Amino acid sequence: MLVANAACPTQAYIDGRWCDAADERRFDVTNPSTGAVIASVADCGVAETRAAIAAAKAAQPGWAALPAGQRSTILRRWRDLMVERADELALILTRENGKPLSEARGEILYGASYLEWFAEEAKRVYGEVVPSSSASNRILVIKQAVGVCAAITPWNFPNAMLMRKAAAALAAGCTMVAKPAAETPLSALIAAKLGEEAGVPAGVFNIVTGTRAAEIGGELTAHPDVRKITFTGSTAVGRKLLEQSAATVKKASMELGGNAPFIVFDDADLDAAIDGAVASKFRNAGQTCVCANRMFVQAGIMPEFARRLAARVAALKVGDGEMTGCEVGPLINEAGLAKTERLVAAARADGAKVLTGGAKHVAGELFYQPTVIEGVRQEMDIAQEEIFGPVAPLIGFDTEAEVIAMANDTIYGLAAYLFTRDIGRAWRVGEALEYGMVGINEGILSSAAAPFGGVKQSGFGREGSRHGLEDYLEIKYMLMGGLSA
Ligand code: NAP
Repeated sequence: MLVANAACPTQAYIDGRWCDAADERRFDVTNPSTGAVIASVADCGVAETRAAIAAAKAAQPGWAALPAGQRSTILRRWRDLMVERADELALILTRENGKPLSEARGEILYGASYLEWFAEEAKRVYGEVVPSSSASNRILVIKQAVGVCAAITPWNFPNAMLMRKAAAALAAGCTMVAKPAAETPLSALIAAKLGEEAGVPAGVFNIVTGTRAAEIGGELTAHPDVRKITFTGSTAVGRKLLEQSAATVKKASMELGGNAPFIVFDDADLDAAIDGAVASKFRNAGQTCVCANRMFVQAGIMPEFARRLAARVAALKVGDGEMTGCEVGPLINEAGLAKTERLVAAARADGAKVLTGGAKHVAGELFYQPTVIEGVRQEMDIAQEEIFGPVAPLIGFDTEAEVIAMANDTIYGLAAYLFTRDIGRAWRVGEALEYGMVGINEGILSSAAAPFGGVKQSGFGREGSRHGLEDYLEIKYMLMGGLSA
């Protein structure tokens, strides 16, 4: 096995034990840069999911009853271990996901920052005392852990998408059963191992690995002991999970797909806009939910913006994420590559012009050239669908009203970006965009201190910030009477 470090577990983690699937099935994890098998991991199903839910249920009251300061200390220790071993974790992440090592390391630190943030927030679960209409009683409001939470996470940020859920849930006193994406289970397993070392008690955090996502997801959503489902992934799967959760009326947080507009006005600082465009679009080879998906450029600066962006993009260093100086890695799998190829071919056939890239890259089977296409129109598939590849489509516009209408013309509402030096326009457009997050003169906006999440069919719920903890808390009202003398 070529897995980065022999210390990386390949078994599921249930009730504080590392275990194989009952039927001993396993599945291969491959490195998308090379196609090499890097690990063979326990392929769990319904039975293991049930066992993990039972463990999480048994552990939850004790975990919630721990003083917040003690939960906080454990989370903080978990964060410290992750930071200490960031290089090792980054290598595992790069080998299973393909992203450049520098980005993988950044993701580990970003994931760890949620542990740090929520270790602090754990101590601030405040209640309220509300004046009552009666002199003889008082209204008390307390907040309590939701209970057992199920988490399903994607392959594009295999550490951070899991840690921002786990950190908030555990800080609130919830326990968790997590199912990582089948492409990238190793980052979740090594994170669980560090959690174990940090002192997370048995049953509080469980990982069920497997390729039978529908079966595992079916059990997690149908089981009455699971009180909440938190999902990051595609809108199509999110819809299914919501439907399945209806029968047991679960709480839900949904971090779903996006179709981010990236708007550059004539008065923008062009250097900043181009830096922002490259950072936003080409990170993780374009495979992020907040990636610029449509670049709207005002007519006056389109020729210069297009020329300069194409030159920058043509110079990006593509290759195995472990290669020194690598800036763009492979796509995660053949389906991702095929989608990118289809969308570019359709745009070309419809009259769009490729300025750079536009074909597979010689670095390997799953690599695609960083691409810029101009002459794209809003109705093309490439502007309607989430590309999830290293392709920047440029769409021209004339007026503020026109670009706002185009930007909002999508079922999605996750992230949006705008570049302008006019402060009035920044407010007007920022407020008019129907998105959960807006970057103004910034191409990267994720932070543990900020509420991450979408509107419309990009989902609901917020991760990070003080609002992130609320998603794992229930409000309880208690009326205290008998106060009259
Ligand atoms: P996906 O196909 O929806 O998969 C995400 C997770 O759901 C994986 O763990 C997958 O397992 C699991 N899954 C698939 N089908 C399932 C089912 N029927 N029941 C239960 N679980 C199921 O999404 P993806 O292609 O991996 O990830 C990319 C998507 O995630 C994009 O749309 C992106 O925008 C979105 N995303 C959103 C955010 C956000 O915060 N809003 C962040 C990152 C990514 P398997 O891997 O085993 O199939």
